[in-house]
Amino acid sequence: MKPLQIGITGGIGSGKSLVCKIFVCLGIPVYDADSRAKSIMTTDGILVQQIKSEFGDLAYDAHGGLNRRYLSSAVFNNPEKLNKLNQLVHPRVAEDGENWTREQIGHKYVLREAALLFESGSFKKMDKVIVVTAPEPLRVKRVLARDPQRTEEDVLKIIRSQLSEEEKTKLADFVLRNDETELLVPQVIKLHHQFLTM
Ligand code: ATP
Repeated sequence: MKPLQIGITGGIGSGKSLVCKIFVCLGIPVYDADSRAKSIMTTDGILVQQIKSEFGDLAYDAHGGLNRRYLSSAVFNNPEKLNKLNQLVHPRVAEDGENWTREQIGHKYVLREAALLFESGSFKKMDKVIVVTAPEPLRVKRVLARDPQRTEEDVLKIIRSQLSEEEKTKLADFVLRNDETELLVPQVIKLHHQFLTM
């Protein structure tokens, strides 16, 4: 039987990857849509062709690797182009994720981690969605400690480009508060038991 698909999202620095690591410790397979998207941009022949026809052959190097610098400069400060790239990548990741889920035989449920689960529309295909939340100043502090190359301004810019915590919470089936006042592991174990009995 196909496992239940549980989406997990949250703004930058909310701690969704940390939460996923706890689920992995409980034996639950996690599909990381953001890193998978980067990988299929070089391995999915259909997507490679689409990116080349939209952005030109220079989007790839002679060995088929993605020319990240070229592509980043093409979409930087160009929301239309960025949107176009997302429109090409999202459906291919969605299909890849569906195939991956079908392979997870014997699991009651699997997780799909994506920063832009709501923004991309892929939440509609999930059976349930978890939103990880934390106050903005804490998220900024965490990201600056994790990514020393980023400035506070960079992080705030990303936060502003994402759906607000309030809107995400409204769309959630389950909310995990990662504000360091409530322990994370017991919250995850509680959800795990809920999913197992669904
Ligand atoms: P992004 O969208 O950037 O991938 P994320 O939501 O996946 O962010 P994480 O990478 O899980 O966030 O967390 C950001 C940083 O904060 C990490 O270094 C993580 O270890 C740390 N962190 C998250 N939650 C906690 C917590 N409850 N206690 C201590 N550190 C935490």
